[in-house]
This record gives sequence, C-alpha cells and structure tokens, in this order.
Amino acid sequence: MTCDLKSLIRTVPDFPVPGVLFRDVTTLISHPTGFAAAIDHLATRAQASGATLIAGMEARGFIFGAAAAARAQLGFLPVRKPGKLPVPTLGVDYDLEYGTDRLEIDPTAIAPGQRVAIVDDLIATGGTALAAAQLLREAGAVVTHAFFVIDLPDLAGAQRLRNAGLVVDALMD
Ligand code: 5GP
Repeated sequence: MTCDLKSLIRTVPDFPVPGVLFRDVTTLISHPTGFAAAIDHLATRAQASGATLIAGMEARGFIFGAAAAARAQLGFLPVRKPGKLPVPTLGVDYDLEYGTDRLEIDPTAIAPGQRVAIVDDLIATGGTALAAAQLLREAGAVVTHAFFVIDLPDLAGAQRLRNAGLVVDALMD
C-alpha cells in the first residue's frame, strides 16, 4: 500500500525556496482511493493508540487529521496559527529553519488526562509536532502517539519525537 500511495505524492523542486524538494500532498488528496487509503491507515492507527481526540496542525494537518478523526469516530482539535481562534488560547512559540512560528489551541477543548494523538501530513525536523505535543501536554493532555503521511528521515524529526516519549508512525518516507 505504501508504494502506491507514495506514487501519489508530487515532488516539487525549489519550493518554497530554491534547493528545497517540497512533497506536495495535493495529488494524494485529489485521488479518491488514495486519499481514502491514507485516511483509513491514519484512523486505524489513531484508534489503536487509545486516543479519544486527534489534534491536527494548520493547515494540512486539518485535512488528514479531521478526516481520520471522523473515520475513527474520534474528536478533532485544530492546532492553529496565531490569532485565528475566537476564544482565549494557550500558545507555544517554536523555531523554524528561518525564524519562529507559533501554534495556539483552545485549552478548554481538552479534558484533564485526555489521550490526544497528533496527525500531520509530514514530519521533517519535528519542530512543529514537538511544539504541538508540548502545547497539548501543557493543556493537560496525555500525548503518546504522532501519525504522519510522510516522514523525511534524513531530517531526524521522528527520532526527536521518540526522544520526547512519543510513538511515531508514518505511511511512507
Ligand atoms: P517540521 O516542523 O517537522 O520541520 O516540518 C513539518 C511541518 O512543515 C508540517 O506541518 C508540514 O506540513 C510542513 N512541511 C515542511 N516541509 C514540507 C513538505 O515538503 N511538504 C509538505 N506537504 N509539508 C511540509
């Protein structure tokens, strides 16, 4: 299955900056059976993890996380870019390759001790997922699993997550 799904990922050179090979999931999500297979895989993993809520990072984590949550009959929590939520937020700043960014959540969406699984399209350095895990844990969640469509192993993000106590699974590298 991973081989077929991998063929649905488009690799775009020099995006967003020269020298970067961007893995574009647009071609996967527009494919009817490919998208469904990816969602089934994520949903099965999330359900088996014992999570009752999936947290997905803006924006492509919304596509995969929300669909997997609905498939697994779990709730979905959007982990948002700053300034998007209409309620008081809990936030975390984190480093990017160039500069910093910030993620925010509505902390009232998480019950104390609730098991939350992270879903995103891709893990590269792991900075985004680590920041999300930190934020969710600050809000009282138990975060033990993170699921991705694509892992870029050369950037060692999955290992960083494992070092932070997370079980990491990706459909392809
Ligand atoms: P990290 O924080 O692990 O370095 O980067 C992962 C985050 O950046 C994810 O939220 C992901 O959506 C985005 N990202 C970085 N590189 C790529 C890429 O090549 N393709 C896609 N689809 N997303 C990427």
